[in-house]
This record gives sequence, structure tokens and C-alpha cells, in this order.
Amino acid sequence: MFHKILIANRGEIALRVLRAAKELGIQTVAVHSTADADAMHVRLADESVCIGPPPSRDSYLNIHQILAACEITGADAIHPGYGFLSENAKFSEILAAHNLTFIGPSAEHIRVMGDKITAKKTVKALGIPVVPGSDGAVTDDVEAKRIAADIGYPVLIKASAGGGGRGMKVAKTEADLAEALSTARSEAGAAFGDDAVYIEKYLEKPRHIEVQVMGDGAGNAIHLGERDCSLQRRHQKVWEEANSPALNVEQRNRIGEIVSKAVADLGYSGAGTIEFLYENGEFYFIEMNTRLQVEHPVTEAITGIDLVHEQIRVASGGGLSCTQDEVRFEGHAIECRINAEDPRTFTPSPGTISHFHTPGGLGIRVDSGVYSGYRIPPYYDSLIGKLIVHGRNRVECMMRLRRALDEFVVDGIKTTLPLFQDLVGNPDIANGDYDIHWLENYLAKTS
Ligand code: ADP
Repeated sequence: MFHKILIANRGEIALRVLRAAKELGIQTVAVHSTADADAMHVRLADESVCIGPPPSRDSYLNIHQILAACEITGADAIHPGYGFLSENAKFSEILAAHNLTFIGPSAEHIRVMGDKITAKKTVKALGIPVVPGSDGAVTDDVEAKRIAADIGYPVLIKASAGGGGRGMKVAKTEADLAEALSTARSEAGAAFGDDAVYIEKYLEKPRHIEVQVMGDGAGNAIHLGERDCSLQRRHQKVWEEANSPALNVEQRNRIGEIVSKAVADLGYSGAGTIEFLYENGEFYFIEMNTRLQVEHPVTEAITGIDLVHEQIRVASGGGLSCTQDEVRFEGHAIECRINAEDPRTFTPSPGTISHFHTPGGLGIRVDSGVYSGYRIPPYYDSLIGKLIVHGRNRVECMMRLRRALDEFVVDGIKTTLPLFQDLVGNPDIANGDYDIHWLENYLAKTS
């Protein structure tokens, strides 16, 4: 087991990882920018090191400073959290060269899954269903026309190096194709320095359903069920739940088995998420995230398995703590992302939190690094906390969520709490009847 873990992140996820390390009796090192000197993860860690000025590129993305912090403190492993360096294959290689353990998958797996075309080819060969489309990059417009006609319009042009929804263009008919291709290529080139694009069937009303997996790197893997993250705004998840209201036990087990077998065959190590679009009873792979996700607590709520404990165990060579047969899915969980944003326009609302009171009681979990009097720095993501509610079934979970939202107080700044108060009373949400466009349509209708 590790002696000391350095947490290369900030905010609620730094605290989340710190808690798991403490439970396992491992020493913790927080790193922080000058803007985060007062952050909770800094206060609670055994040691802390300031790694630079506020901009992320000078601090949380500054590999030299992070290496120096490991050297000074004698940390032997690094947990990257999510975002920042968590999917940076080079970072994991540099750590290995310095005899430090990256708590995550191999650099090779990060690299393969970081390129969408390679990722799609890889998972398809492992038996995972993918969205019909071109086999690789499309460079020739005549060939593009033939492929699009084959799969049928509408089609989606996607950037191989894509992320955050950039470099994506829909062509409704053949007349739109040439322009969609050239816009997607130039957007991708500008954003990622790589203008490779590919073509996919555009699904009109899918849900976003993702499967959580854990591999031991030695050919064993388990799945921990799915999360439904269809409620999104601009491709950003807002509300996540487990299980998906759209799947039954057989569907869950079937996709879970396909995915865990593929991940085992890949020799994957650590936590990963395979994301799908789901429409008319079929799953279509869109991407794999080779890290812990923001929404992992809903999976923890229904399985009782601490995913960060598992990550640390696997990275230290201790293997998985349980087999697939030992995984039990109990009840239902929902997570609401509380952002420091206007609940309608989603404009960031940094500032000082004058009063912060979190709900409690059975089935309530709040993951947050903020407190009364905390000043939110304007430099980073606007997520200030996550409310995770668990109940024996979805109805109980929704009742408890409504009550917990009423108890939650964040004064001094705007937050997305009022949006969740609206959503929890909406009949479509109550019925679990929504797709990836539902939230944007709802916001357009009610604003
Ligand atoms: P990124 O990495 O840029 O976020 P993804 O491949 O994860 O790209 O897709 C982001 C979102 O774009 C999905 O959650 C979905 O809303 C939409 N999307 C992606 N592929 C398709 C498709 N084939 N049909 C319809 N929507 C899609």
C-alpha cells in the first residue's frame, strides 16, 4: 500500500480523494494555487504545497511543480481526480519515470481512448456496439457522401480529437454535408491542432447512459451498473441517476457484461466509464473516460462500493475488493450538481458565500469543499458541490431529494439550486421520461 498520496486537484474532488486516503491510513498531500490557500482540501490534508499562481496552466497543470511537490513531501503516488491532468498520458509516463505511481490506467489506455477514432475501433473489436458510421477519418468529400447516404441522414461530423462538444456538426441532408465537413474540420483544427473528422449516424432522441467499470490490470474487471446522465445543458451533465429509469434488470446485466468483458480483455486497470447513447432499446458507444467521473457517487450509493478505495487498491497492486457476483444494486440514487451560476442563464456567479448550510438525514450525502465565509475564486470550474440522495426506490429518492433541496442554504452567490427545485416537481422528471434534449427544450420553454 502507498505511504503518502499527493492529490493533484482542487475543490470537492480533492476532498473526496483525501477522505478515501485517510480511511485507508494513507498520508495526504494537498497542492494548491495561491488562489486556493484557504481551500478545505488544503486545511484537511496532512501537508500542503503551493504550486503556483491562480491560472491552471501555471499551477494545477504545471507538471514540474507537481513533481517538485512529490519530491519535497516524499509522496509515492498521485491521484489526479477528474479534469486537469487526469487524462494526460504524458503526465502518467513522466510520473513512472520518476518512480511515482499514477492512480489511474496505463498511459497506453489513456492514449487509445483519448483519440475518438482509435477508441471506437478498439471497443468495436472488443464487441461493444458503436454508432454506425465511417470506419476511420474521412478526408474525401465524395467518399463522405457515399458513407452518409449508406447510413442515412441526419449524420453527425465529429472531431477525432474532440472534447466538450467542439468540432461537432450535424448535416440534415446531403445539401448540408460539404459545409458541415469543412466547418467541423476547421473547428477541430483550431481547437485541437488536429483536423481529422469522422461521420456518425445522428441519433435524434437518445438518452445518455454510461457504465462504470473497474479493472485490475491483470485481465479481471467488474461493472458497477449504469448512470443515466441525459439531463444536460450544452453537453454538460446537470443531474445524474442510477439506475437509469429506462433500463430493466436484463438490459442492465446484458450491457454490463458486454462492457466488463471488453474491459477485462483490454487488460484495463482502475476506474473507467464507457459512455453510450441509448435509443430504441439499442446502445451506441460514444466514448470512454479513463478516470473517476464527477457523478461517481450515485454508483457508490447504490453499490456501497467506495470507488476511490478501489482505485487506490488497484494502483497499489492489491486487486479488486470484490467479484461481480458480490456486487449488489440497492435502491436508487440521484446527484444534482450545485454550480455557482445563475440557475437560468448559467452565467458564473463567483463571490463570497455568506452562509452555507447542507441538508442531512438518512440517504443524504453532500460532497463539497466550500463553507460559510468562503470566497469562490473566479479562475476555475463553477461546481461548488454535489447533493447525492439515495432511497429504496426512485419514488422515495425523489421525495427525499425534494426535502433535501428545501434544507440546502447557499447565501451570497447565485447557484443552480432553484433549477433542481423546479425539476424535482416536473412530471416528466417524476416519470423518468426525458432524453438528452429535454433540459434545453425545458429551459427554452420556461425562460
Ligand atoms: P465530447 O467529448 O466532445 O463531449 P461526445 O462524443 O462525448 O463528445 O458527445 C457529446 C454529446 O454529443 C453526447 O452526450 C450527445 O449529446 C451528443 N452526441 C454525440 N454523438 C452523437 C450522435 N451520434 N448522435 C446524436 N448526438 C450525439
